[in-house]
Amino acid sequence: MLSAEVIYPNKVKSRTITCADCDVEYPSSDYILLFKSFKISYFETSSSELPSASATLCHECLLNSILYASKENGDKEMPFTILTKDHEYTFHFHPEESDLPEGDDSPEDFLRGLFADDE
Ligand SMILES: [Zn+2]
Repeated sequence: MLSAEVIYPNKVKSRTITCADCDVEYPSSDYILLFKSFKISYFETSSSELPSASATLCHECLLNSILYASKENGDKEMPFTILTKDHEYTFHFHPEESDLPEGDDSPEDFLRGLFADDE
């Protein structure tokens, strides 16, 4: 199963953080602000089937990679887990009945929902 752990800004050790897929990069000081305003979140992904698939991805690439994996999998439902500080959320993402919101604001809403239960 694919899982993704939120990389909280205070856990970033390097000066910058970069998405392994789209290369979007921010200084860690900017990431704090962007994260707090739900503009971007980075995730450390891992897969129980593919240990080498571990990567740092932004939320957009994370969602895209799940969509892609689902399509590769014959449009089957893709369960995946997102770990936040205190919670573990399991999503069942089906490309044809996507409950991930569409539109420009959607990643922001997705992140807002994800972190709603953080303190
Ligand atoms: Zn990205």
